[in-house]
Amino acid sequence: MTDLLPVSEAQSRIRAAFAPVSTTGVPLADALGRVLSVEIIAPLDLPPFTNSSMDGFAVRAADVAGASPSAPVTLALVAEIPAGAAPSAVIGPQQAARIMTGALLPAGADAVVPQEVTRSAPGVSAQVEILEPVRPGDYLRQQGSDLQAGVPVLRVGHTLTAQDLGLLAALGIHQVQVFRRPRIALLSSGDELTQPGQPLSPGKIYDSNTFMLAALVRESGAELLSLGVAADDPRQVRNLLQSAVDQGVDLILTSAGVSVGAFDYVRAVLEEQGRLAFWRVDMRPGKPLAFGAYAGIPVIGLPGNPVSAYVGFLIFARLAIHRLAGLPDQSLRHFTAVLDDALESDGRESYLRGTVHLVSGVYHARQAKNQSSANIFALVHANALLIVPSGVKSLPVGAEVKFMHIGTEG
Ligand code: AMP
Ligand code: MG
Repeated sequence: MTDLLPVSEAQSRIRAAFAPVSTTGVPLADALGRVLSVEIIAPLDLPPFTNSSMDGFAVRAADVAGASPSAPVTLALVAEIPAGAAPSAVIGPQQAARIMTGALLPAGADAVVPQEVTRSAPGVSAQVEILEPVRPGDYLRQQGSDLQAGVPVLRVGHTLTAQDLGLLAALGIHQVQVFRRPRIALLSSGDELTQPGQPLSPGKIYDSNTFMLAALVRESGAELLSLGVAADDPRQVRNLLQSAVDQGVDLILTSAGVSVGAFDYVRAVLEEQGRLAFWRVDMRPGKPLAFGAYAGIPVIGLPGNPVSAYVGFLIFARLAIHRLAGLPDQSLRHFTAVLDDALESDGRESYLRGTVHLVSGVYHARQAKNQSSANIFALVHANALLIVPSGVKSLPVGAEVKFMHIGTEG
């Protein structure tokens, strides 16, 4: 067992082998989900000017200190300030301006009295009666009270969300610098593979990895270049790999065809124009993992069995894509559950298909009965990968187990 490569070591080697791709400017409207390559510093204050938080009257607080319903204070209206206007009026003693929510506070005023605690002076439209006192600053949103110019707001490597776009727009930013999306070529191989929609003849199976891995590539924020399926024929493999090279991809991802079987042409062709190391990773499923380069482009060779390919993608390929994409080093999020069934493993770091559910705020886990690395139905039925650490061969009922969520909620 000692010559097996620990999963964490294999991950470190992958991290070290990749660096973020180049950057590009995108219009804010197209920036959702993109990864920032430059820190955003607030170029202005938010709010940019002190404004009213209510529809009401801009006043000098000292003027209305004694106001009450029985002793209203009458003020002369000298202006009306809708949102968007730049008032020229200066509010003097015993004066007020009608003001709308979001409108700029006029000079001289230091508070707003909400409409609800005022009434119009009988018969005199140019006056207002104030029924309650306010303190200086009341019903105002002060300039810079949310955010001050010069404050860092979003860091490099941050993935832009809807609310981020709202903030950037509020700051007047119309274009952002982001990492370009990594381009990932995907190659499946095998004479047995038939495309869904075609009739299935004896000895054949439908190609599931291409669809699953393509979706995983897209989920990880990368651009997909699907090379399709190569038959077990060196010329076809060579042609498809060449098209990946021609299109300048950042990573070639293959599934199947790299084991020691006599028909594994992917490996042979890759080695014509590059090198391929076979890492014997201390992991189940997913050993071996091929890692190397073809014509200078990094290659990760995932196993052919669909569950192995899936787990290998999550643990290794996604890490590479995240590095290329400029995302921070976010190892997969691990949660902890209590085992409802005992677990057996062979001592390698195991990613067992299982189900988790919450009971009074605590996750409980059970492993799927079928752990075959070819059984994609069991993978779909599972909602978690239960992680048994290296060197551990069994975990009893009630033991804690780390896990990763897979699939969607519900
Ligand atoms: P290989 O690595 O080529 O020996 O393939 C290992 C196993 O994975 C075989 O049973 C293949 O039929 C299966 N397999 C390989 N590629 C795919 C694929 N794209 N979809 C489904 N199963 C596959
Ligand atoms: Mg094969």
